[in-house]
Amino acid sequence: MALHRPVLFALFCLPLPADDPLKLGLVAQFQREPPSAVMTELQAEVTRLLQLPGIRIEWRSPSTVRDGDRFDRVIVLRFSGCCRPTPTPDSPPCPAPLGLVRAVDSGFLPFADIACDRIMHEIARARRHPLMLSPVVYGRALARVTAHEIYHILSQSAFHDAQGLSKTHLDPEELCRPRFDFCPEALARMIEALNSAPSSALLTREAQ
Ligand SMILES: [Zn+2]
Repeated sequence: MALHRPVLFALFCLPLPADDPLKLGLVAQFQREPPSAVMTELQAEVTRLLQLPGIRIEWRSPSTVRDGDRFDRVIVLRFSGCCRPTPTPDSPPCPAPLGLVRAVDSGFLPFADIACDRIMHEIARARRHPLMLSPVVYGRALARVTAHEIYHILSQSAFHDAQGLSKTHLDPEELCRPRFDFCPEALARMIEALNSAPSSALLTREAQ
């Protein structure tokens, strides 16, 4: 069973003025819409974590994509499962990553999959059942996993650092604590990749 609706967008390469700040479009698709408090924290924390010089982030959902939206880069974020805190999350059927990106010969594709239920389960397992996580803390945890996957796409690198948000494994405490950031090396990797190969895209909603 497909977890997500197809991505109904068309991307076209376009030249953009070189002096403009690089505009990064993040299109968030949810299998089930999260509460507004989760969404607000998710967007705020991802935006905070990716405060890179010369980069401006704009969020879209499938319903808010406007014909003719212009971005330098677009990343589609696909959130599966029930993206709301629950005191007794179901156990995942088998071990799997909290987030996923896909690599091809030329690098990473601009799509990230985030497993909302697995993130909730990992946090609940570490804190012992039953647990009622606040929407803000849960949104923050979703944001940290999301930012890790965006790091791979923006840097076009599979490299993991020994510390910070680009580590191989993020434990539940690192997902939930008030502050946890990328290390300077990971930020530099993203900036260098963005500056060395800028591309432009026109995002257009296609007829459904
Ligand atoms: Zn990784």
